[in-house]
Formats: sequence, structure tokens, C-alpha cells
Amino acid sequence: MSFIIKCLDCGHNAPYYPTSITCPKCGSQWREAEYDYELLARTLPEKLLKRPHDLWRYRELLPVRNPNTSLSLGEGYTPLIRAVNLGMMLGCPNIFIKDERQGPTASFKDRQASVTIAALKEAGITEMVAASTGNVAISYSAYASRAGMKLWAFVTSLVPSVKMREIALYGSQVIKITGSYDQCKQVAAEFARQRSLYLDMGARTITSIEAMKTIAYEISEQLTDILGPGDTSPWRTPDWYVQAISGGMGALGVHKGFREMQQMGWVDRIPAMAPIQAEGCAPMVNSWKKGLEKAEPVISPKTRIETLATGDPGRSYEFLRGHVNSTNGAFESVTDEEAFRAMHVLAKMEGISAEPAAAAAFAGLFKLIRAGVIKPSDTVVVNCTGHTMPAEQGILGENWSRDVKFPSLAQAAQEEGLLSALTQVAPERFPKIVIVEDILEARRLIRRILQSQGNFTILEAGNGREGLDIIQRELPDLVILDLMMPEMDGFTVIEELRGNPQTATIPVIVATAKELTPDEKNRLSGHIQALLQKGDFLNDEFLEEVKSLLK
Ligand SMILES: *Cc1c(COP(=O)(O)O)cnc(C)c1O
Ligand SMILES: [Zn+2]
Repeated sequence: MSFIIKCLDCGHNAPYYPTSITCPKCGSQWREAEYDYELLARTLPEKLLKRPHDLWRYRELLPVRNPNTSLSLGEGYTPLIRAVNLGMMLGCPNIFIKDERQGPTASFKDRQASVTIAALKEAGITEMVAASTGNVAISYSAYASRAGMKLWAFVTSLVPSVKMREIALYGSQVIKITGSYDQCKQVAAEFARQRSLYLDMGARTITSIEAMKTIAYEISEQLTDILGPGDTSPWRTPDWYVQAISGGMGALGVHKGFREMQQMGWVDRIPAMAPIQAEGCAPMVNSWKKGLEKAEPVISPKTRIETLATGDPGRSYEFLRGHVNSTNGAFESVTDEEAFRAMHVLAKMEGISAEPAAAAAFAGLFKLIRAGVIKPSDTVVVNCTGHTMPAEQGILGENWSRDVKFPSLAQAAQEEGLLSALTQVAPERFPKIVIVEDILEARRLIRRILQSQGNFTILEAGNGREGLDIIQRELPDLVILDLMMPEMDGFTVIEELRGNPQTATIPVIVATAKELTPDEKNRLSGHIQALLQKGDFLNDEFLEEVKSLLK
């Protein structure tokens, strides 16, 4: 493959060599690989048909001359999964998750590490330095071990110790810096300079940006398989690309991928970019919201999500800002709590256990949908950048496990022991909730949300009459009631319940899509405990209401 390195400041072209990191003409560190797009547009599509589904299927678009297959760990082409339940809950049916957890070391940094290590190996480089908030170093370590290279991994002391041990396990030297991530980067850079070692430079590393862009290619190929071609192009682009960012390298690379595909005529447009940051360390979001052209650094980041703790994004912000603005995208920030909550929702609704940094992207998605920035009809791809290992302490709250002791009894009493163990599994009676709602999907959704937050015995009814029968028979602890239903509407159900001493005090939450008239509100007032708009279920309000009514 032929490619050159173009300076983003002066436009000068130079050949690629991994250790020459500045433009020979103007000294800029901001450069980018350029390929013969005209040639590739003609020749690559046919080759792709026969290629295996991994990152190297786009090898002509990567800055490695002879990809060494013996270094590969099966990186790339992670699944694109439709988030059916989240989509239903958010009223946005075309949400897709790019599941980067399924990379060899469980984060999207595997792309960066596999391409960079391949390029370094090709250039005969045997030792390198990287500063990391955990995942980069883990991934570099794995690939360095395959390539027989040594990695010096500089991490901040806030990196969870399981991650540090993982880095060490692959044989890398871990250097723990007590300080901010930006300070950690400074120490690593100085160490590398003094010893003339190769240093990972984040978004300024050609191989990193090039590796990350493969995410865009995969998304378009996969989305085309699922939804068909674009309006005026062979491949499809989503309307939105959402990703949690720290230094912004991933998002910059993905944008470059879409740009290249557009240049080659494979896609007709570039998605709106939505980079998400943690509120306690959101220099890019804050600067964008203030309309600044240069980022105001955050000197001491205040977030527990160490993976997102780049306080000084430098010029990455200027480039990313340009991309966000030119695509009509949006920067957004979320609190740690919002990210942790999203982590929970994602696991419980979609079976996906993501690390807090990845969950921040989902919290951002929820926010942008609620704000109406992302529309219900939009196709959205969210990058699930990494797996949780292990589930962070404090996220699950109390009572997430139950200790059961099997009584040591004589053989004959085996059965009795089993019964005893079972009563320990669920010693208390679960609160009973009846959902009265004529739309099956809405019923299932409410059930799912309730079950994701606690143990309940849930009964369902498909219309008012059936609901009234079940309530009178079961005398539940709580009723969740729709208003507009066949057979008997919700207003009548409430009147019947309140008129019967046995059911008069059972709390009722009305969940309705209907805009109520003042007269209807009067009819309900005093007879129900809460009124919720459907679609507001994601709000904590709903669960708080349920919990307080069950006390
Ligand atoms: C590195 C990382 C990020 C942030 O990516 P940048 O490219 O540095 O902006 C987000 N999530 C996870 C899981 C990461 O490992
Ligand atoms: Zn230059």
C-alpha cells in the first residue's frame, strides 16, 4: 500500500517512519496519513468480499506495510448489536451498540495497540513507553508480549489495582505515579526522551488514529448488512455516533474513517458526533458550551472514572470541535452517578456489562435523547468502549448477594436441608405488583424495569376488567395502571377500588401517554399516589415512587 504523512498545519508531505513524530518542515506534531483514495475506491470493495472479518481486512488503509499475522489476537470487527430494550425504553428503536468489549483485552484500545505494535515491529523497534489510565497499557502489554517488545507502562495511582496487575501479568514494567493523568504523561514523556525510547502520543500518533478509524468502516459495513445501503451510497452511515472521550483519540479516528469513506463514495455523509465526558473532567464539553476555540484545561479532575481523566486535551479539542460543529453534533457531560446508573441499566436491560467509562457514553445518550437533540427516528451507534473488570465496588449497593448455608444433616434429611436452603434464598415475601396495561410491550417494559431494580412478584392484566379481578383476588401491595384501555378504563378501575374497603388503600401509580384535562385530573386527585407520563420510566422518579409506596 502507498501512503504519505500530511502535515495538518503546513500541508507538507513526508514518508512514514514511526519514530519521526514531527513535520520536517514546520515541526508540527499534528499529521495524518493519506492514501490513494481514488485507487482504493475502485479496487478495495471487491477485495473486501473475500477477506476475513477482522481489523486487517482494511489493511490497504493502515500504515503497516506488511501486516504480520502472527501478532494478531483477532482484533477488530466487534459485533454491532441492536439495543432492543433500551430502544423501546427510550422510544428510539434504532440504537446500536458497537461492542468493543469483545476485543482481545476487552477495550477498543486493542485496535490502537495492534496496529501500533505491528508498525513498530516492522520498523525494528523493541522498547516503548506509554502513559495510561489502564486500558491502553493493558492492550499494549498483550501485543508487546507477542511481538517480543518491552513496555514501560506509566499509570496513575488511581487506576484500579486489578488493571495494574493485568498489565504486569503480560510482563510489562508498571510505574505507578501519584498525581494526575496529565502529570503521569509528563513523567512518561520525560523518561522516554532521556532514553530515546518510542513514546505513545495519544491522538498525535499516526497509527492510533488510523487504527481507530476502522471502527467507522466496520460500523458502516455492519449497518449496511442490517438496514441496507445508504440513501445515495453503497454503505450506510448512522445519524449519530456517541462515544465517551478522554483525550479524544478514538472519536478523532472514527471521524477520519467516515471522512475517508465519504471521499471514496462509499457513504453519503458523516454522522453527527457526540463525544461524552465525565462532568468532573469535562474540559472539551465546557469549552465547547462556552464557544471557546481552545480548550480550558481542568487542572485537578474530579471524577472516579479514571479512564476519562484527561484534564488537558490540547489541540485534540480544536480538531474535535471542528468535527462536532461540521456534523451538527454535540458535546455532553454526565456525572459519575449518571454513568454508574447507566452501567446498571445497560447490564440489566441489554445483558452488557460495561466499564464506567463506556457507560458514560450511554448516560450521554439518555441525556441527548431526553433533550430532544437525538430524535426518535435517528439511527444511533454508541461505542461500548470497554468491559468492566471487575464490577466496581459501591455500584451495586447493599444486598446484592445472599449467603446460603446448606445445613449439615444426615443423608436421610437431604430433602429437608434443600428446603431449608431454599427458604434462605428468598426468606421474605416479595412485594406484589399488578400492572394493568393493554399494550403488551408496555407491560413487558414496566415489568423489566421493575425487575431490574429489585425482587417483586409481578402480575399482569391486559384490560381494566381483568385488572380489577386480579387486584381483588390478590390484594397486591401496588397497582400500576394505564388509563385508556378496552373493557373498562383506568378511571373506572380506580372508582371500583376506592369503593371497596378491601382495596381502598392499595396504592396506585397511573402511567399514561394521555394528556389529561383539568376535569380528568380532578377525577384522579386524592385517589392515586402518583401520575407518570409513559416514556418517563427511565427517570429515577418512577422507581423512587415504587420503592417509597412499598415501604
Ligand atoms: C481510552 C478509553 C476511553 C477514552 O478514549 P479516548 O480515545 O482517549 O478519548 C473511553 N472508554 C474506555 C473504556 C477507554 O479505555
Ligand atoms: Zn508542517
